[in-house]
Amino acid sequence: MEKILIRQIMFQEMREELKNSEADAEMYMKFMKSHCCYEAIPTSCKLVIFDTTLQVKKAFFALVANGLRAAPLWDSKTQRFVGMLTITDFINILHRYYRSPLVQMNELERHQIGTWRDVYLQYSNHCLHSITPDASLFDAIYSLLRYKIHRLPVIDPVSGNVLHILTHKRILKFLHIFYSTQKKTVPKPCFMQKTIQDVGIGTFRNIATVHQTASVYDALSVFVERRVSALPVVNEQGKVVALYSRFDVINLAAQKTYNNLNMSMQEAIRRRCCFIEGVIKCLPDETLETIIDRIIKAEVHRLVLVDKEDVCRGIISLSDLLQAMVLSPAEISSKSN
Ligand code: ADP
Ligand code: ADP
Ligand code: AMP
Repeated sequence: MEKILIRQIMFQEMREELKNSEADAEMYMKFMKSHCCYEAIPTSCKLVIFDTTLQVKKAFFALVANGLRAAPLWDSKTQRFVGMLTITDFINILHRYYRSPLVQMNELERHQIGTWRDVYLQYSNHCLHSITPDASLFDAIYSLLRYKIHRLPVIDPVSGNVLHILTHKRILKFLHIFYSTQKKTVPKPCFMQKTIQDVGIGTFRNIATVHQTASVYDALSVFVERRVSALPVVNEQGKVVALYSRFDVINLAAQKTYNNLNMSMQEAIRRRCCFIEGVIKCLPDETLETIIDRIIKAEVHRLVLVDKEDVCRGIISLSDLLQAMVLSPAEISSKSN
C-alpha cells in the first residue's frame, strides 16, 4: 500500500516537472507571439531607400556614408518595394566581376541596381520578404530564419512606407531590455543554466574558416559558396586569430580598395576601420545565459566556440539562438527548409 502511494507521488512529481519544463521551454516563444513588430522598433532610426535606377557603386558608397548595412529598393515604374540591397549583394558583385587589380570592374562602375538584379535574379524568383507592424515578433523570426535573410523591412500596409528594418540583433535586444526591466517578476527558464555543450545550440561541424594568409577574394568565395555570415580567421596552428564578417567587406567600399582583392586577410583585417577588438568567443562549458549576455553586450551576430587551445569548434549565431529559444518550442525547424 505504502509502495503504491510513494509511486503515485513520484509519478505526480514527474508530471509536474514535465509540465514546468514544457512551460519553461515555451516562455520565449510565448513572449514573441504576444509582442508585435511595432513594439521592437526604436523611437528614432535612420532609413535610406534606393531607387533601382541608382548605380550600384553609388548605392554602396551611400550605405558607407550613412553608416548603414542595408536599404530597401524602390521601383518607381511599378511604385513598390521590390527587394533589399545588402552587403551580401556587394560581395556577390565583387566576386562575380573581379578579375585582377589591373582590370577595372566596369559592371560595378556602370550597372544600375535594377540591371544587376536582372543579371543576378534571372534564374530565381526573388520577392521582397516584409512584415506588417502588427504582426508578431514570432512571425518576424520565422521569416528571418525561413528565408535565411538578416534584414526584414516592416512595412505599414496603409501608407506603404518602410518603418524599420528588423534584424535578429534588434529582436534579441528587445527581449533583453524587456526582461532586464522586469527582473523581479519574470523568472528565467531553467535551461538558461545549461551549458552550451549540453543544449547543443549552434553549428559544430564543417565550420567555414579562412586562413590568415588567404586572399580577400578567397574569403569572398567562401561567403558566396557557403552563404555563411562570418568566417573565423585561423593561423597555422588552427587557432582563431580574428573574425571577418560580411559586414567587414563594406570596408572595401569605404576605403575604395575593392580593386585589390588579392590583398591578404591579415592586411584586410589590419586595415578595417570600424571593428571589434579581438574575437568574441565562448567555451563549451559556459551556460546559455552567459553566452546570451555576452552576445547582446558585444552587439555581435555570433560567438566563436573554441576549445582551451583556441581552436575553432563551432559557431553560435543569433539564428541558432532564436531557432532554439523561439521556433523549436513551436516545433518549427528552419534548417530543413
Ligand atoms: P547581409 O547579411 O549581408 O545583410 P542578407 O543575408 O540579409 O544580407 O541578404 C542575403 C540576400 O538576400 C541578399 O541578396 C539580399 O539582397 C537578399 N535579401 C535580404 N533581405 C531580404 C528581404 N527582406 N527580402 C528579399 N530579399 C532579401
Ligand atoms: P551585422 O550587424 O551586420 O550582423 P556583424 O555582427 O556580423 O554585423 O559584424 C559587426 C562587426 O562586429 C564586424 O566588424 C565584425 O567583424 C564584428 N564581429 C562580429 N562578430 C564578432 C565576433 N564574434 N568577434 C569579434 N568581432 C565580431
Ligand atoms: P547566420 O547566417 O550567422 O545567421 O547563421 C546561419 C547558420 O549558419 C547558423 O546555423 C550558424 O551556426 C551557421 N554558420 C554561421 N557561420 C558559419 C560558419 N563560418 N561555418 C559554418 N556554419 C556557420
